[in-house]
Amino acid sequence: AYRKGGYHAVRIGDQFAGGRYIAQRKLGWGQFSTVWLAYDTRTSNYVALKIQKSALQFAQAALHEIELLQAAADGDPANTKCVIRLIDDFKHAGPNGQHLCMVLEFLGDSLLRLIKYNRYKGMELSKVREICKCILTGLDYLHRELGMIHSDLKPENILLCSTIDPAKDPIRSGLTPILEKPEGNQNGTSTMNLIEKKLKRRAKKAAAKISGRRVSIVGLSETPKKNKRNLDGIDMRCKVVDFGNGCWADKKFAEEIQTRQYRAPEVILQSGYSYSVDMWSFACTAFELATGDMLFAPKEGNGYGEDEDHLALMMELLGKMPRKIAIGGARSKDYFDRHGDLKRIRRLKYWPLDRLLIDKYKLPEAEAREFADFLCPIMDFAPEKRPTAQQCLQHPWLNLRTQNNEDQIEGQMSNMQIKGSCS
Ligand code: ADP
Ligand code: MG
Repeated sequence: AYRKGGYHAVRIGDQFAGGRYIAQRKLGWGQFSTVWLAYDTRTSNYVALKIQKSALQFAQAALHEIELLQAAADGDPANTKCVIRLIDDFKHAGPNGQHLCMVLEFLGDSLLRLIKYNRYKGMELSKVREICKCILTGLDYLHRELGMIHSDLKPENILLCSTIDPAKDPIRSGLTPILEKPEGNQNGTSTMNLIEKKLKRRAKKAAAKISGRRVSIVGLSETPKKNKRNLDGIDMRCKVVDFGNGCWADKKFAEEIQTRQYRAPEVILQSGYSYSVDMWSFACTAFELATGDMLFAPKEGNGYGEDEDHLALMMELLGKMPRKIAIGGARSKDYFDRHGDLKRIRRLKYWPLDRLLIDKYKLPEAEAREFADFLCPIMDFAPEKRPTAQQCLQHPWLNLRTQNNEDQIEGQMSNMQIKGSCS
């Protein structure tokens, strides 16, 4: 992929935007880009540098993403709306072509990583609640104030707010070491050899620590117990990222949006969509945080495809789809007969959300009911009946004051010294 039109190969110490940003280490990558931790010599801060592949279609996608990110930044000068902040953008010429680059505020690990770190065991509801508040704050802002649909909400695209100085934590994500001091110097002399040697040494050390079961997340390292991870002390604030698939509600690009497991029924049936597709993905994400399992993980089977299995799974959880909705989409005929029954999957095993939470995930009955009461309306088959992010923020479940909740509020008070990048 590191060829013409493809990724830009980056080495530690490489400089960008006339020397302003210096690459430190790779943070992640997606289909269209690689993301690097970089040091901003102008502000003396760490930033995330998203470097797009160079081919024209990727450049156009990046321009679109920048437009959305810029709008989000302009509308939120105080940076309190739980959406990733664009700091700068520029073009970088490399051997594979011109790459559009986005400079973003540096955040911590994704919720997917948090779920994995927690060994897919599901988190305490008090923690899920804090995360839900952030996501909803972000969605409410995007939907109501900006008229924007994210279209790809999922745990991978929600990042925890970083509470650490990356220079002080050598194995922040448990995988790659960060150099102690920002590397490369302001006057442009390269110290590559030295840096690479130093990096190798530190990588070795970090690897030794990891094999010794020492793992860190969001910079808070600890020695976890065998079965249960201690998530205390991890700040559950987070932000919505990755606007690569976002759009304006009145100017959509694609019929097929969202990552499979988080895709709303109206997208599968192609009956038209709006903001409420993000709400559907939000509910799937909240369930996954609480249980460690994806809410819907459709598979194709004998005689039916992934889409039909997906629709069957939805109806097994939420009840039969009203006939009018089932037959109302451009693709409805592929899956439903004229009575509104699935064509190839005839027998459905109904297992409602509250029972699922109690029977399979062993949640106490009262907690399960309250959580299901919060989530079920968000998964209404009729998109226009789903509550908005603003309405969800008013839901009693988010404002429950349980003992856990109070412990957490106290915990947050004592954590105030740790300064995060979120306000
Ligand atoms: P793509 O559109 O290619 O999926 P993303 O914007 O989702 O790109 O970024 C890819 C990955 O890079 C993320 O999943 C995350 O691991 C990392 N990443 C992205 N932005 C940041 C950031 N601001 N701070 C830290 N890591 C980031
Ligand atoms: Mg992504």
